[in-house]
Amino acid sequence: MLVTFPHIGNAYIGVKAMCHNIGADVIIPPKTTSLTMSLATKYSPEGVCIPFKLNLGNMIQALEMGADTILNVTGHGTCRMGYYFKVQELILRDMGFNFKMLLTGLSENKFQSFLSMLKRVSHNASWLQIFRAFQFGVAKMTALDDIEIMTNKIRAMEKKKGTATGIYRQAINAIDNAADYSGLRRVVDTYEEKLGSIARNDKPPLKILVVGEIYVVLDPYANMDVELELGKLGAMTTRSLYLSRWVKSSIVWGMLKRDQWHEVHRAARPYLKRDVGGDGWETVGEKAISVGKYDGIVHLAPFTCMPEGTAQNIMPSMKEKTPVLAIYCDEQTSKAGVITRLEAFTDMLRIHGAKSNGHIVTNL
Ligand code: SF4
Repeated sequence: MLVTFPHIGNAYIGVKAMCHNIGADVIIPPKTTSLTMSLATKYSPEGVCIPFKLNLGNMIQALEMGADTILNVTGHGTCRMGYYFKVQELILRDMGFNFKMLLTGLSENKFQSFLSMLKRVSHNASWLQIFRAFQFGVAKMTALDDIEIMTNKIRAMEKKKGTATGIYRQAINAIDNAADYSGLRRVVDTYEEKLGSIARNDKPPLKILVVGEIYVVLDPYANMDVELELGKLGAMTTRSLYLSRWVKSSIVWGMLKRDQWHEVHRAARPYLKRDVGGDGWETVGEKAISVGKYDGIVHLAPFTCMPEGTAQNIMPSMKEKTPVLAIYCDEQTSKAGVITRLEAFTDMLRIHGAKSNGHIVTNL
């Protein structure tokens, strides 16, 4: 069995570590590039959202390399994700590929569902081995997120542009190569020290909250490196959606049968009272609680995404007036266009911030 799964930002590194530790043979598709995108758009329905397309592109490339088992996600709810795996499977079979697709649910019992999927690709690993492999994979996801959080803070203030990004890229490879917990700890300590020693200017950075649909928030290819570009413009980015946090809080809150987004959902309620699929409800709630903490919000949404489209339509009429820049991501989105809009947005935040003594009240 040769197992593969899509990149989804750096998520593949954690899943790869889990698979290796239970003896599964893995084929990682090549880094997502314009070739992945052109394969994806060639074989996907035109109006489908970018997570579907890029995941399909990753799958095609991995199957061409010899993979025969695909790990995929599904879920129920009000967006189209519940039937994506079926459409992807049909497209791949029509293309002549012969493979098995294993699914994990993202709506309920995520933890049990994911462990069962790992069990199926393992070479008769015990449940204890499966659990330990899962833990190590989550430790890698946590390390990746910790380094990314630190990079996004320092990048906005570094004196020599590009230093933090260079160190971050080395750190990703080193985390990917770490074979055990002590190796992983050493890597994190080394790269945190390197990032911490970067020379910084004393200009206060803008604070930007990044919200939106989880795939485009996590995947820098899909979002045109939005956090990197904001950092170059002197803006420090923060977000609630980090994969390791999402996994850990899903497990804990799932076991307690509680809503892990309780505070955010409560804040959203005056405007939106229920789940609209994907991350739309959370996007509205995050804007409601952003006041006074951030200079602005960047809202990332896949083009044609119904949940984020709903959130996007609600946000301008909210009483919380943190400025929002919405960026829709698909194969037509150009990086130059995104950079121009980020430049205009950060300029606007600085002008209004200066005029109103740091308190920004404008809505876009
Ligand atoms: S949340 Fe939006 S982008 Fe994600 S699967 Fe649903 S419709 Fe597509």
